Amino acid sequence: LGGSISRALQQMSNATIIDEKVLNDCLNEITRALLQADVQFMLVRDMKNNIKKIVNLEELAAGHNKRRIIQEAIYNELCKILDPGKPSFALKKGKTSIVMFVGLQGSGKTTTCTKYAYHHQKKGWKPALVCADTFRAGAFDQLKQNATKAKIPFYGSYTESDPVRIAVEGVERFKQENCDLIIVDTSGRHKQEAALFEEMRQVSEATKPDLVIFVMDSSIGQAAFDQAQAFKQSVAVGAVIITKMDGHAKGGGALSAVAATKSPIIFIGTGEHMDEFEVFDVKPFVKRLLGFGDLSGFMDKIQEVVPMDQQPELLQKLSEGNFTLRIMYEQFQNILKMGPIGQVFSMLPGFSQELMPKGREKESQAKIKRYMTMMDSMTNEELDSSNPKLMNESRVMRIARGCGRPVRDVMEMLEEYKRLAKIWSKMKGLKIPKKGEMSAL
Ligand code: GDP
Ligand code: MG
Repeated sequence: LGGSISRALQQMSNATIIDEKVLNDCLNEITRALLQADVQFMLVRDMKNNIKKIVNLEELAAGHNKRRIIQEAIYNELCKILDPGKPSFALKKGKTSIVMFVGLQGSGKTTTCTKYAYHHQKKGWKPALVCADTFRAGAFDQLKQNATKAKIPFYGSYTESDPVRIAVEGVERFKQENCDLIIVDTSGRHKQEAALFEEMRQVSEATKPDLVIFVMDSSIGQAAFDQAQAFKQSVAVGAVIITKMDGHAKGGGALSAVAATKSPIIFIGTGEHMDEFEVFDVKPFVKRLLGFGDLSGFMDKIQEVVPMDQQPELLQKLSEGNFTLRIMYEQFQNILKMGPIGQVFSMLPGFSQELMPKGREKESQAKIKRYMTMMDSMTNEELDSSNPKLMNESRVMRIARGCGRPVRDVMEMLEEYKRLAKIWSKMKGLKIPKKGEMSAL
């Protein structure tokens, strides 16, 4: 998505005259990219109309940074969609709150319930989990396992088949035990069906939750709006959690969920583990959706991590779009110099998820060292070339022999390079900001 949007903006920038047609072409291109990212059709249409109203052609013609103006308009519009204008119900520590989770089967409710409980427990709350899913065999065992791992009290039954009854019993029990965050996990179905919504209505009526959280799988795509709306119509959804943001989901469905429920996203799930859970923040999310990475954070990090004297050079190279093997090598050097690499480079586009997954810093570090050893067997020509075709079979064989590693390892390193080069190529044409200037975007 980021790629197609920046291409569209680039094309417009190249045009000598910005007229209605050039702007329309650009907006159509961007519209297509957003639809492909599963942003709902109606949202995209409204957004396009809004941007047309905001973007002033005369201002564009007068030589202002056109890309920047349109880019900012898109960014602001997307942020607006994700901000429903009211925060979700604020729970109070020490005062009993009941939170009910709803969502389709497989959306990640049970996993997310535990993450949510664990998150609060770490902050000094006294959470408890109630399993009101009597629909799926094994549901109670799953919750029990998760809860035990996180040392969180739980309630459920292997024999009782009435979800309302279990929910009420569990809530009562934990009220008596003075838990201040009672979480009710519910059942799902594979499809949106009347029986599920009726059950949710009944559980909600009986337990009177302070907050209902709708859990949605980020890969749901264009179906997101309808699904979220269907839940909102049966129970008073007050917040949204989007799961599986670590996968290849395009993320546009999140916008639909907010629009349909008029409720904010409060957390996102980024993995199967208990701590792969992040407080949701609109701005970085939109930047990611647009493929900007977290540019403001990125620039700050560059200033923090890359030695002063290398900064202008690195930014210059990036804006030229030539990500060479030598640049990769230099970045690896910087990473290793920083010691524990977990957080440091997590904001560099492409360096975080795949290359340096959280919790596996040691492995990542070893991998980076291995890559560097292989790159030590490369010639200057190879390191400085940005022509991917240069690395032919005989060169790969020579490098493998030189560093004493199998050819397949060299291939892997080159694949990694290509992946990073692709991501970093999006920075081509990037206006290099002066310090402090990035905060606006
Ligand atoms: P439920 O049917 O709604 O209760 O969904 P579950 O909690 O059982 O989750 C379904 C599957 O999705 C499980 O295999 C989870 O481990 C997985 N899952 C849940 N959240 C995430 C996430 O944020 N990332 C990834 N990768 N997997 C997740
Ligand atoms: Mg479940």
